[in-house]
Amino acid sequence: MASDQFSSSSSAEEPSIDLRLLLEINRLCEDAIMKGDDTPFLLLNVDDVIEKIKQWKLAMPRVTPYYAVKCNSDPVLLQILASLNIGFDCASKEEMEVVVDLDVPAERIIYANCCKGPTHLQSAAKLGIELMTFDNESELLKIKQYFPTAKLLLRIMVEKSSAQIQMGTKFGCEFTLIEHLLEAATRHNLSVVGVSFHIGSLAQDPNDFAVCIEKSMHTFLTGEKLGHKMTILDIGGGFPGEADSLEKFKETAKCINNAIDEFFPPESEVDIISEPGRYFVTSAFTFFGSIIGKKEILVKEPNIMYFVNEGIYGLFVHKIFHNVHVTATPVKEYAPDSLKVCCIAGQTCDPLDILVESCILPELDVGDWLMFPNMGAYTSACSTQFNGFEKTGVKYIVSEETLSYLEKFSAGMKLCSFLKGKSVVLEKSNLLTK
Ligand SMILES: *Cc1c(COP(=O)(O)O)cnc(C)c1O
Repeated sequence: MASDQFSSSSSAEEPSIDLRLLLEINRLCEDAIMKGDDTPFLLLNVDDVIEKIKQWKLAMPRVTPYYAVKCNSDPVLLQILASLNIGFDCASKEEMEVVVDLDVPAERIIYANCCKGPTHLQSAAKLGIELMTFDNESELLKIKQYFPTAKLLLRIMVEKSSAQIQMGTKFGCEFTLIEHLLEAATRHNLSVVGVSFHIGSLAQDPNDFAVCIEKSMHTFLTGEKLGHKMTILDIGGGFPGEADSLEKFKETAKCINNAIDEFFPPESEVDIISEPGRYFVTSAFTFFGSIIGKKEILVKEPNIMYFVNEGIYGLFVHKIFHNVHVTATPVKEYAPDSLKVCCIAGQTCDPLDILVESCILPELDVGDWLMFPNMGAYTSACSTQFNGFEKTGVKYIVSEETLSYLEKFSAGMKLCSFLKGKSVVLEKSNLLTK
């Protein structure tokens, strides 16, 4: 789960961040066992988020990210992103208010919802959040009524992409209607400043971005012909965020860089923005669940069913909505000779509530802890309290190295003291005394 990018920076006497993280995880779970506390928790590894920001800047220096708040709105996470000058993609009055409350200036927020409720649109006007998307004519009438000075991005439809979750079924203007909508905006005296699209979530083929960037270029030309000053291209979300997806991310970035250099070269002075959700959060959160039940099955494999104190109505809702493959590993180390085919079930009374249908794990017992990586995207954000089970809380962890790195930023000191107050700090020394 941890990023190993830092290991080179630690000397022989200083244990690597990975090792410190692992020891801390063991300590957290052992403490819980000692206290007889089986409360499950998510762990946000702050280092992982910081590393994602660094990688983004390295890979796509021309593309400014606006984090899609809906993906995970953990307050500490939002504070980190806000302090490091990341922009935000909001879809409702409530999301806009949360972000504005973090002192994020309105210019760093995009209201990326093509169909906005009138009261929500009025909130955007009040907060001065000008940049917003649209994909239909009746939206233009609403914007004209409530926020005539807004700056609009026309969201174009992505009819088909390699993504697991297609967006074109609900969002975007059809290709044949682009000119009509841009004309309508001119007629209503509204200013369209650019184009947006979203290739869909969990995409397989980075070339989807290139195809849409080229289409956007044609839309820019149409807009300019109709008198709009087109200056912003928004390439949406859909970037991979799992722990092992750095190579795929870099490949996607390369494809995007080539396409923007071809269709929107730096001389065009077009600002390129994006709306990544998953990318920033998927691998940063790990779920820790305690085994609360164990049932042997004689007649068929899997031979053991473990019950964990979470489920598909809680954090694992992404397994149902997004068909995400869930994996688990025991926190404790075990002798490799006790391997069994097993199944991991959730805690609710719904027979559908299965997290892992079949996997191989060492034989475990009630009270043992399991960890599930890549639990940041569309998990806590979409979870319910079905059957009365409380929502799982978050613990935070950050390394001393990351804290010193953050201190270099203008908002860094404040962020560091905020993080120190909330997190377990992985210190370089006195590891053995813990
Ligand atoms: C959900 C959403 C995103 C984020 O998508 P990811 O696949 O999580 O990157 C970005 N923009 C819009 C408009 C969205 O609805």
